[in-house]
Amino acid sequence: MTNRTPKTFQVKSFGCQMNVYDGERMAELLESEGLAAASDGNAADLVVLNTCHIREKATEKVYSEIGRLKRPDGSRPMVAVAGCVAQAEGDEIARRAGVDVVVGPQAYHNLPQLVADAAAGRRALDTDMPAASKFGALPARRRQGASAFLTVQEGCDKFCTYCVVPYTRGAEVSRPWTAILDEAKALIDAGARELTLLGQNVNAWTGADEKGRDQGLDGLIRALDALPGLARIRYTTSHPNDMTDGLIRAHAEVGKLMPYLHLPVQSGSDRILKAMNRSHDSASYLAILERVRAARPDIAISGDFITGFPGETDEDFEATLRIVTQVNYAQAFSFKYSPRPGTPAADMEAQVPAEVMDERLQRLQALLNAQQQAFNQASVGRRTAILLEREGRKPGQKVGKTPWLQSVHLETNAAIGDMVEVELISAGPNSLAGAQLVKEAA
Ligand code: SAM
Ligand code: SF4
Repeated sequence: MTNRTPKTFQVKSFGCQMNVYDGERMAELLESEGLAAASDGNAADLVVLNTCHIREKATEKVYSEIGRLKRPDGSRPMVAVAGCVAQAEGDEIARRAGVDVVVGPQAYHNLPQLVADAAAGRRALDTDMPAASKFGALPARRRQGASAFLTVQEGCDKFCTYCVVPYTRGAEVSRPWTAILDEAKALIDAGARELTLLGQNVNAWTGADEKGRDQGLDGLIRALDALPGLARIRYTTSHPNDMTDGLIRAHAEVGKLMPYLHLPVQSGSDRILKAMNRSHDSASYLAILERVRAARPDIAISGDFITGFPGETDEDFEATLRIVTQVNYAQAFSFKYSPRPGTPAADMEAQVPAEVMDERLQRLQALLNAQQQAFNQASVGRRTAILLEREGRKPGQKVGKTPWLQSVHLETNAAIGDMVEVELISAGPNSLAGAQLVKEAA
């Protein structure tokens, strides 16, 4: 515990892209209050741990992170716990770990005040979910690199029985049209060439445009498509139930919308999908993908999977392997089921033994990895545009992304943020190598 007003800070984000975005916004907020970013947590006066609560041991991880912040002389920086663990644990964290500030995901615009309270020795906890959005109270965007995140939707009303998000992030809320377009323009002015629209259910976004007409995510994407300076648009994560005809059509018609769709299915078994309260079944999921692929034949499909949901039998799991084989994913994320306190599934009988979950996860990942490797291998020989995002490890090397979200390493003199034409020359499981075709940046 410290009572000194901090001058330097570090924000450490865990978990999903929405947390990365929140972390950027907290850093901007602290800088606008005159604090300077420090490169090393132990050297910083204030460390913000922006936490994730989606799977097990999240809370334990936070406690061990806090322990690691101890300096050789026994002191430690001021510690703020933000994000979903802060929301879920509240006062408990302050009590158990003696952290200075606890701030939930909907309250982090109050971080400077909470830090000032903690510095003055006052209780500093805010896990409110105010009706007014925090976004209006945040400073303008600054440079975030060639590819930037933009949260357009938060929260979730779907209540899948395994998931904490509806409890930690609150109800589904869409940010207003004008606020999003203004933020997009600010990010583009600050150097972004690609925007990834974020939301726990991003395709549930709705709002009225500047003429008062109702719009869905596809309308927003079309408005962004018209912004000069922007080259690429992505969005994640989508729910199958909100995959509208308009959004599918956008994949055929909007030039800047990239051919990539992250559409989690979680399981291939209809019995398990029902128990998960997913409100789609395997057939309706496959039917959506058929329409998406008809609109954009080269689209890369990605998904999320959970193995070992309570009651999952060998037959259920085989159905998951079957749907994976049918879809043929370009990329995927798969997890062992993790009981989350307070969720209905945590109290279900027939919890699956850990070793069964492990074995199923390994089999599933072997199949998904093979599909990803095959997708990358099939790209070799393709000529495509790469958006350069960062320096590579070797001198002269840079790393960028294909339209299908594959990482590509290449030798180039072009700058970060440039779009270069390459031929993809070799593929590994996680990235490809490219050779530049046109030396001048496009
Ligand atoms: N809203 C998105 C959707 O429904 O697809 C995903 C949001 S969640 C942050 C990301 C992924 O975490 C989920 O798709 C699911 O696969 C996984 N997940 C959520 N709760 C989980 C749990 N209790 N155990 C294991 N994985 C979980
Ligand atoms: Fe969680 Fe389901 Fe909402 Fe996704 S749709 S955030 S998995 S409750």
